Amino acid sequence: MCPPGAGKGTQAKQLTDRFHLRHLSSGDILRAEKAAGTDLGKTLGQYMDAGKLVPDDVVVKVMASALSANNAAGLLLDGFPRTVEQAKALDDQLAAAGKALDVVVVMDADPALIVRRISGRRSCPKCGRVYHTETLKPRKDGVCDDCGTTLVLREDDREEVVRQRLETYRRQTEPVIAYYRGRAGLKVIDVDGAGTPKAVLKSLAAKLAELGLGS
Ligand SMILES: [Zn+2]
Repeated sequence: MCPPGAGKGTQAKQLTDRFHLRHLSSGDILRAEKAAGTDLGKTLGQYMDAGKLVPDDVVVKVMASALSANNAAGLLLDGFPRTVEQAKALDDQLAAAGKALDVVVVMDADPALIVRRISGRRSCPKCGRVYHTETLKPRKDGVCDDCGTTLVLREDDREEVVRQRLETYRRQTEPVIAYYRGRAGLKVIDVDGAGTPKAVLKSLAAKLAELGLGS
């Protein structure tokens, strides 16, 4: 569980490498479905392009098929479940497969920091490389180092949109944390996403080690 811009994607990548997990990112999976142009993908596109949360039944349908296609390996779910309804559907599916969640990672960061992090992003529309106006500047202002294309502020990264995404998170996703906290047999780890990616990973790895997980 993690608000936008707290560094979830970076940490997920590191954790999957370290623990040899399969990374199931709901964002990637939904985008792939959209790009495939299926009926489900077209429905998804209407919500995603408007910056709205995709309805629970649609997300659950897509994620359920991704989950059953990745039955064997240890999984790291990234960006799912985002609502209590999705969490309940996930519980049902896992129970039916004789499985359960082991660990839930809650990463949080100060909203002001998140807004600064995201709204400072500048992306290259050609090669996809991402820069930041304060922390990761290109050599030449506003131009991609790799391909010379003019950098853009993505619609999703505009300050008003970020604030809207944070509000959606507070309303719909924070209740999921309460849903999991205190459940017998399920470990919930809290990590502060304010530090550098390296510092956050160190703290996260230490907490997992305390639980006897990882190295
Ligand atoms: Zn580029």
